[in-house]
Amino acid sequence: MTHDQPLDAGICSFCDQGLRRIVACISCSELLALCDECDAMWLGPDTANLPIFPNQPEIPCPFCGVGGGWEHYRAATRDELHGTRWEAAVRTPRAKRIIDQPSPRSGDEGDQDAARL
Ligand SMILES: [Zn+2]
Ligand SMILES: [Zn+2]
Repeated sequence: MTHDQPLDAGICSFCDQGLRRIVACISCSELLALCDECDAMWLGPDTANLPIFPNQPEIPCPFCGVGGGWEHYRAATRDELHGTRWEAAVRTPRAKRIIDQPSPRSGDEGDQDAARL
């Protein structure tokens, strides 16, 4: 039921351990990724570019300059990633629901039932 499960863009290539959590600045809503291990801040999904390390503890947003610590960033939603560079990099599995819910009937179409009402 956790609708706001944090999305990540894979392993941080800087520390090779942490996950790059995709977050959004609460001031300007720009997307970036924060490593949960080494605190690297990624401005884009491409790991060929080096991350930046913002000043602690303000952690100012590189886009709008507003700081406020980690609380200044919230987990990005999948809708927000849609159409951005991050969409292809996001790694959260989405096949789980299908596995958890084996269809009791032969058909997968739910439209048939709606038509009978
Ligand atoms: Zn890292
Ligand atoms: Zn910002």
